[in-house]
Amino acid sequence: MRIARIISVCLIFPLYLYLFFFSSPASASDDLASKRRKMIASDIQGRGIRDMRVIDAMAKIPRHLFVEKGYASRAYGDNPLPIAEGQTISQPYVVALMTEALRLKPGDRVLEIGTGSGYQAAVLAEIVSEVYTIEIRQRLAEKAGKLLKELGYKNIRGKSGDGYFGWEEFGPFDAIIVTASANHIPPPLIRQLREGGRLVIPLGSTLFFQTLTLATKKKGELDIEQLGGVAFVPMTGEVQKRR
Ligand code: SAH
Repeated sequence: MRIARIISVCLIFPLYLYLFFFSSPASASDDLASKRRKMIASDIQGRGIRDMRVIDAMAKIPRHLFVEKGYASRAYGDNPLPIAEGQTISQPYVVALMTEALRLKPGDRVLEIGTGSGYQAAVLAEIVSEVYTIEIRQRLAEKAGKLLKELGYKNIRGKSGDGYFGWEEFGPFDAIIVTASANHIPPPLIRQLREGGRLVIPLGSTLFFQTLTLATKKKGELDIEQLGGVAFVPMTGEVQKRR
């Protein structure tokens, strides 16, 4: 009896150890994948997002790698989350809504203002051929650049700087997305938007509420459409010196 017990402990204990060390990472990643599927079904498709390019991109990207350490298990929740330096990664639905509003096509060239974690840039890069992204905080720009490189994105070019001035060298752009709030659309961005191009930006001067605004360039003028209320961190730099 005693020998049988010793043998079973000798066999079962290593088995437990094996399961603990080798099966828990797999189940953690299964859990995240299942949360991601749920997010797509309820918060993206369930809320009316129909563009399959946007849905496929968000179903594929490991959003949990873009949030601050310690928040991975909450990365697929229906809310924004902190990244470094007091900034935030937007709520998944808002990312989907803004991306869908841009009516992107595979050959498009897109400019993003406010790289943040790099998540929105990754979503764009899954859909279009060229993504340019500008982040005013150098540390965030570097961190996002490193992660996007590790994930293998070769069609994203990023830099640290004030996105108010756009990125003239690579314009005009088919679409521009501003992921920080401003009280006006920076004129350099309007100039760098091609005829027929779409620009999306949270417009407003209060901290907790802005209007998500879609501007389409038609015969040199902007056709404006309001998409609803949002709350973004403010755009800093030049924009705060004007109007
Ligand atoms: N798109 C990001 C979230 C953006 S949070 C993501 O997917 O994670 C807004 C970001 O805009 C912040 O990182 C902030 O530093 C940046 N920002 C604010 N003003 C800016 C400016 N003038 N030019 C470029 N980036 C700016």
